Amino acid sequence: MVQHLTSTSILKAWEAGVGRRPLDRGLTLLWAAGVSGDLAALPLTERDRGLLQLRAATFGRELEAQAVCPDCGEVLGLELDADALARALPEMTDEVVGVGDDEILLRPLTSRDLAAVVAVPTPDVPAALRARATGGEWFPPALVPEIDARLEAREAEGELTTQLTCTECSTVWTEVLDVVALVWAEVEATALRLVGEVAELAAAFGWAERDILELSVVRRQTYLRIARGG
Ligand SMILES: [Zn+2]
Repeated sequence: MVQHLTSTSILKAWEAGVGRRPLDRGLTLLWAAGVSGDLAALPLTERDRGLLQLRAATFGRELEAQAVCPDCGEVLGLELDADALARALPEMTDEVVGVGDDEILLRPLTSRDLAAVVAVPTPDVPAALRARATGGEWFPPALVPEIDARLEAREAEGELTTQLTCTECSTVWTEVLDVVALVWAEVEATALRLVGEVAELAAAFGWAERDILELSVVRRQTYLRIARGG
């Protein structure tokens, strides 16, 4: 069950994730929210669903994002609904697909799979992911392109996309939402703001970081106003 992030856990998540790869940051956020179990083994869709639920519980469901037109560079503002996006993600389970005369079991990819191929040279990544998703089974070379295409299509189904039209040049494109990056950016911005508020209140009143973070938002903002002479 995804909990919301408190001020204390936002700082904890940011501190743990700031020097790490984007791949690890998504899992760090879920860990900071108290999600237990082997998080690296979650299908990527479940990771993203957890992050969107966490986002809605912490900051509310209305989510503003930006997309850049691939043609002219215009920046478009997007208004999204984190709860609706979480519900839109498909349930990914092991699936038996027919390829040629064979039936092949495809397992949904996980964060651990992506981490395992980080150091793999780009041309070899499809083979490495195929091996992980199929349990290392050997396939006749003639079947490989179709297996890879099925795997790619299946993972694409698990991506959140939105069709956009540029307001400047009318280019139409499909934007893939990077859920980890979206939620991480908000957590990082909030963490940096919190650090600034702690520094201000500690300087003004001599309070400890832990006590300041435990203040409700309303109380903290009121003390900040007082500290600023308002
Ligand atoms: Zn454009």
